[in-house]
Order: sequence, then structure tokens, then C-alpha cells
Amino acid sequence: MSSGGGNYRNETHRNSNPSKPALKNKSLSTVGASSGIRKSSPGSLGGGGAAKDDAGVPGRVRVAVRLRPRNAEESVADADFVDCVELQPEFKRLKLRKNNWDTDTYEFDDMLTEFASQKRVYEVVAKPVVESVLEGYNGTVMAYGQTGTGKTYTLGRLGEEDTADRGIIVRAMEDILADVSLETDSVSVSYLQLYMESLQDLLDPTNDNISIVEDPKSGDVSLPGATLVEIRNQQSFLELLRLGEAHRYAANTRLNTESSRSHALLMVHVKRSVKGGDLAHSSQNGNTTNTAKSLRPTLVRKAKLVVVDLAGSERIDKSGSEGHTLEEAKSINLSLSALGKCINALAENSAHVPVRDSKLTRLLRDSFGGTARTSLVITIGPSPRHRGETASTIMFGQRAMKVENMLKLKEEFDYKSLARKLDIQLDQLIMEHEREQKAFEDEIERLTTDAQNQISEAERNYANAMEKERLKYQKEYMESIKKLEEKWMMNQQKQGERKMASTAEEVAELKRLLNKEISLRKAAEEEVNNLESQIAQLKISEASANSEVLKLRKMLEDEAYQKEKLEGEISTLQTQLLRLNFEADETRRRLDLGGAPRKVPGSLESLISQARPQVNDLENGEKATIANLFEQVGLQKILSLLEAEDADVRVHAVKVVANLAAEESNQQKIVEAGGLKSLLALLGSSEDETIHRVAAGAIANLAMNETNQELIMSEGGISLLSITAANAEDPQTLRMVAGAIANLCGNDKFQNKLRGEGGIKALLGMVKCGHPDVLAQVARGIANFAKCESRASTQGNKTGRSLLIEDGALLWIVQNANNEASPIQRHIELALCHLAQHEVNAKDMITGGALWELVRISRDCSREDIRNLAHRTLTSSPTFLAELRRLRIDY
Ligand code: ADP
Ligand code: MG
Repeated sequence: MSSGGGNYRNETHRNSNPSKPALKNKSLSTVGASSGIRKSSPGSLGGGGAAKDDAGVPGRVRVAVRLRPRNAEESVADADFVDCVELQPEFKRLKLRKNNWDTDTYEFDDMLTEFASQKRVYEVVAKPVVESVLEGYNGTVMAYGQTGTGKTYTLGRLGEEDTADRGIIVRAMEDILADVSLETDSVSVSYLQLYMESLQDLLDPTNDNISIVEDPKSGDVSLPGATLVEIRNQQSFLELLRLGEAHRYAANTRLNTESSRSHALLMVHVKRSVKGGDLAHSSQNGNTTNTAKSLRPTLVRKAKLVVVDLAGSERIDKSGSEGHTLEEAKSINLSLSALGKCINALAENSAHVPVRDSKLTRLLRDSFGGTARTSLVITIGPSPRHRGETASTIMFGQRAMKVENMLKLKEEFDYKSLARKLDIQLDQLIMEHEREQKAFEDEIERLTTDAQNQISEAERNYANAMEKERLKYQKEYMESIKKLEEKWMMNQQKQGERKMASTAEEVAELKRLLNKEISLRKAAEEEVNNLESQIAQLKISEASANSEVLKLRKMLEDEAYQKEKLEGEISTLQTQLLRLNFEADETRRRLDLGGAPRKVPGSLESLISQARPQVNDLENGEKATIANLFEQVGLQKILSLLEAEDADVRVHAVKVVANLAAEESNQQKIVEAGGLKSLLALLGSSEDETIHRVAAGAIANLAMNETNQELIMSEGGISLLSITAANAEDPQTLRMVAGAIANLCGNDKFQNKLRGEGGIKALLGMVKCGHPDVLAQVARGIANFAKCESRASTQGNKTGRSLLIEDGALLWIVQNANNEASPIQRHIELALCHLAQHEVNAKDMITGGALWELVRISRDCSREDIRNLAHRTLTSSPTFLAELRRLRIDY
């Protein structure tokens, strides 16, 4: 295989600009740091772009090579010949065989051998680009190579039968959808084909001549005629891709071409609101002073990911044997050869870059020499019969590596949606006001009718009562007169019949009757008086009802005055809105002119700065109070308050203790006074989450000291912490509990006891909360535990496989070995190295996928000590070495 024998000439082609850091997980701030900032040459593809005040971050175009395995035809036809290329991934070198005794050597950013998995290809070529698109930078992923070398395989596979087959496009969308929030962000897609300088919409086949529009100011390129579909889930995206593919097939049949002659472009637009830029609007409390806070526009980042599956790079047959004339043949290749010319010009820093020569170069002006992060994968095949095409593909890649971009954040203020929001608020206020006004008027009307009804009812009752009394007395009077007359008649009769009757007796009887009549009459008169006083009473209450009506009228007037005032405020707000729109336009105009720095209007800034000192004062005040408390009240007293009856007192007390425990100088005093025991007891006895969180925080602080660790273990701390974790809802509680257990994991003496009481299971149980702070503590605990185990094994104190593996931690470890949060990744990398140091663990680690992570750590880890540790561990394990040999991986 090797052609590097001493007798053979061996030439190495080095890139003049060889910055070689691994592409993977690279943060933007460091990209290209070693590659020297390229002076913005007048001929860059993206020349004349955005404002001059933010210069951006230099980022060279990254180029990876992917070698396709021999296919069935090559296995037969080339059976007697060796491959024309050999990849040396460890040196990032490619050797191209010139003839039997001579090879050329080239360096690239990454080598993807015929064994490279689709996942690895995605992570090396596209993941860093996708990550920076999510951060707000434009990105490009492009595949270049001869037909049949695997461009579409690399980019476009859907992986419907085998998920491991998924190509870059599908994986990129998965990562994007996982990162954005569909409430505040949006993702939309266009899918196009470029053939013979005509741009066709693959999502709407009737639309087959889309024009390219360039913004003369910003240099941004857009396709207003292309269909743009919003993506809300992976399923709908896959359906869209299938639809596009079907249209592409139909279009190519109609135009009598093959897909290998056309370029396919997928454009993903990601629009995100930047958190913290927006304040909640204040319509609920209706307080107009709060309205000023909502006058702050949201900051939005609009980045675009372009994925380009280029036409095959092989020379087209000049004779036009595919049924095309020579003119057509030229047009078919126009865009690809223009791209080659532009990249040559950029690589040589030439003053003129012929961007406008083709549609492809106009579409990609931001990708080469522009503001996008660009990653190119060049695909090659192994067959010696295509050595010429393979060599020209390699040269294209070498030149592209020299192109330097200036990455720029694509962000702006969203004044439109702010104005929309304020309009909605204004309308809500107007509606609310109208509703209140109507309700008030209805209430006044109801009260007036009620009062009038009461008055007329009282008058009616009075008249009826008077009439009844009058009739009653009249009747009684008539009856008594009649009786007297009858009696008188009877007396006359008696006198006539018996002249001897006694007149004196009769006179007495008459007098008695007369007296009775007089008393009856007096009672009647009293009754009349009574009724008259009732009437007077009724008159008084009528007067008070009238005054009530007057009062209500007055309130109505006040309300009308308030309404007028509110209307005045509404019109002030409208004027403010207008002024803001005007200011926004002004700001945008100034930004466009490149003059003014980006800044919120001055009045808002001063508001914020006024608010800030008050917050600081508060915090200092609280600290001072806690210190005073300690001195004045005494520790014993504070600790006794942990058992207070009153829940508020307990919460305060535990906060004070936690604050004290955070200072190392107080810790011994707290433990001696029984504070640690009380805190543990509190975990078991209290059901309050605040108490759990604060107490666990204090225990975590105390658990840094070895004596305290022993006390915690002997007081059943592990099971108390496990129960607390199982009931916790607040991630900060989990972080504290995980921190405490992580500290205990670092003590050699408790390995078995800690595991036996469920400590490891408790840690693993907490990862489902997903909060990065919690995960970092879990990772730290696992790393601590693995380190102690490794020490014990080395000293011969431990045999048998790791308790971590026994408790099923390996799966989580492997899944998170590549976690984007660096503290988590670091701890896990260390844990893996410790686990790998013991041959008993090797089998489980291989089946669990940990071997790959170790290989990756030994190659890519940015910390040299960890990288070396991983390397040493791998090379000293016979089991690992045998597996690497079996997989034919040079190590
Ligand atoms: P291109 O798009 O460059 O013309 P394709 O992606 O269509 O090439 O690949 C040509 C053939 O080679 C397809 O059958 C594809 O499945 C196969 N192929 C390409 N790359 C690989 C690879 N890395 N491993 C296995 N098969 C591959
Ligand atoms: Mg293809």
C-alpha cells in the first residue's frame, strides 16, 4: 500500500493557509483565530455588504474529503489494481497515486474514509455550520465531486429504511428543530433546482424561472418568487423533501436531462427572537407608566442555511452526445465553471471576482468571500480509471481552502411587531373603557327606576290606607246614630204606653252611651294623627331618595371627566407610538448609513439605569442583616429556630444557616453546634420545597469537608438526599442535591455504602430534568466516583467491574460524552478515561459505544492532559487494541 518508500520521490502539497483546528464543536470566537484576518479585498464575492462598523469574525472555508467505498462494478473491474487514493486521517493527509512509483500528497481540514459513518460526516462537515446558523450567522454546506462519488448520498439521504443512513439535510433540520422554540422562532424552507441558468422551484413546478434579487445596500440575495414553506416538525419537512424530489424527477424528464447535470439548493431560513430583549406588556394592570417598558423592540436574528448538491464536476462531452447542442453543453456547465473561476480569484486574492457571470455564483456570493460560515465536502471515488477527475476535484478543494470569509451576526430590531403589539394594547384599552362606561350608565338607570318605583308604591299605600279608615269611621258613625234614633223611638213608645216610667234612669243610660261615643271618636282622631305622622315620615324618605339620585348624577359627571382624561392619555400614547416609529425609521436609516452605533433610545436606557442602583442596595442590605443576625442572636439560637412552629420562621432560619455555611470560616462552628444534623433532619421532616432547596445547598457546602462527609453518611444522608431528589420539582433543588452527592462520591471510603444506599441511582434519576446545571453536577459526581474506583482498583482494593456500569450509568455517560456544555463534557471525558483504565470494564464499554468516544477524546479533546490520558488508556488495553484492529482502525 505505502508509496512512501525511500527510493520514491514524494512531494507534499501544503495549503498556504493551513489553520488546522478540528472543525468539531468549534465556538465562533475561536474560529480562524490562527488564520490571520483577510483584508476585505475589493473582489470578494460578498463585497459591498453590511455596515462597516462591525467587522465580523474571520472564518476560512473548511474543506473535508470523503472517499466512497468501491462499488460492485469497481470490485470486479478494478480487482487487479490498487485504489488511486489513500487517506491518512491521523495526519489529515491524502495521497494520490500518480503511477506505480510516485504519489502526490495533499492536506485537508478533515479526512472521511470509506468507513466514515453518516453521523460522523454530519458532525465533522455540517454540525458547526448548523450551530452557527442557530446563533445568527449565515451558513453554507456544499458537496462537490464527480457524478457517482456520493454527493447526494452525503447530503440528501432520508434514511427511511435505516436511520443510520440519514444524510446532512435531515440531521441538520433535526438539530435546528430541537434548538428553536416554535412560539418565538420560525423555520422556513425553499427548495430549488438550477439547470442551464434557469432557476426552478421544486416546491411549485409551474414556477420555473425564478429571478434573483440583490439588495444594493446590504448585498443580501433573495428569491421573492420562490415558495417558502414554514416547518413545524420533522415529519412535514420529510414530506416536503419527498415532494421536491418527485418534482425534480418530473422536471428532469421534461427537460431531457439527469439530476447529475443540475444543481439542487435547499435554503433554510431561521428567524429567532433574542431572549431578554423583550419586556412583558402591561395591559393587565392598565398602568400607563408601565407602558413605557413595553416600548422596547425585540431583537431578532435572521440567519440562512444553504445546502448545495452541485452538478457532477466531470467534464461534459463536448460533442453533445446526450442530445444537446454544443451551445447547450456550454450552458449546462456555465455555473460550475463560473464557481471555479470565482474560487480561483478569491484564493489568489485577485482584484476582480467574476461573481455576476452565473446564477450559481450570484446565489452563493455570501458563501465564498462573504459573511457566511462555509463547509465544503469534496467527494471522490477510489477507481484508478477516474484518476484525472479525482485529481481535478482535489485541486478544487485545495483552492477553496484558501478562501477566507468574515462571519457576521444577522440581527436587527423588530420594530414592526412592537408597533403591532402596541396597536393591540391600545385597542384593548379602548374596548375595556367602553365596556366600563356602558356598565356604569346601566347601573345609574337601574337605581333611578328603583327609587321612583319605591316612591310611587309608598304614595299608593298611603292613599289606600286613608280611604279605608275614612270609610270605616263613616260607617260606625252612621250605625251609632241609627241606634240612638231607634232607642229614642222605643222610649217615646214606652212613655206613651206606660206613663209611669222613670225618666231619671233613661237620662243616665243616655249619658253612658254618649261617653262611649266620645271615647270612640278620640281613638279615631288618634289614628288619624298616627297616619299623618307616617305620611311625614314617607315624605322625608322621598327627599333622601332624591338626594341619592343627585349624588349619583355627580358621580356620573366625575366618571365622564375621567373618561375625557383617559382619552387624552390614549392620544398621547398614539403620538408616542408615532414618534417611536419615526425614531425607529431614523435609527434604521442611520444604521443603514453605517454611522450610528446600535442602541436603544436614550430615554429607555436612562430608565433602566435608574432602576439598577435600587436593586444593588437591596442585596447589600440583606447581606448586612444576616451578618448582624449571626452576631446579635447567636448560632445556637438560629439553629433552634430550624425547629420553630411557624413555617416562615423555619424558612428564614434555614436561609440564614445556608448563608453562614457558604463561608468556610463558619462551617466548623455550624457542625459543632449540631447544625448539620438539624439540616439533615429538616430534609426528612419538612415538605416545603424552598426548605429542601436551601437545606440541600447548605449540606452540599458542608459536604466538601471529609469529617462532615462521614457525619452525613452516618446520619443516613444518602437516602434523605435521594428522597428529596425524587420529590423535587425545582431544578435548583436537584442541582443542590446532586452537588452534595457529587461531593460524597469523591470520598474513597464510602464507595460501597454510597452505592448500596442508592446514591448512583439517585444521580441518574436526576438527569431526566435535563437542566444543564443539574447535569453538570451529575457528571461531576460520576467522574469523582470513577476516579475513586480507579484508585481502589490500582491499589488492589477492588475487583470486578465498575459499580457505575452495574448501576447502568454507561448509557448516559456515552450519550453525554459530546454534550455541548463544556463542564459536563469535561467531567464525562474524565469518567470515561478512569473507567477505561480497568480491563474488567472494557467489554461493557465496547458494547456500550464508549470505545468510539475514547477514540474521539484521544483525537479531538481540546485539553491536552485528557487527550493524552485517553490515548495512553487506549493503547495500554489489549481488549481495546484488539477491537480497533478488528475494525481495521489504525491506532
Ligand atoms: P452523486 O450524487 O455524487 O452522483 P450518489 O450519491 O448518487 O452520487 O452515489 C452514487 C452511488 O454510490 C449510490 O448508489 C450511493 O448509494 C453509493 N454511495 C455513495 N457514497 C457511498 C458511501 N459512502 N457508502 C456507500 N455507498 C455510497
Ligand atoms: Mg447526485
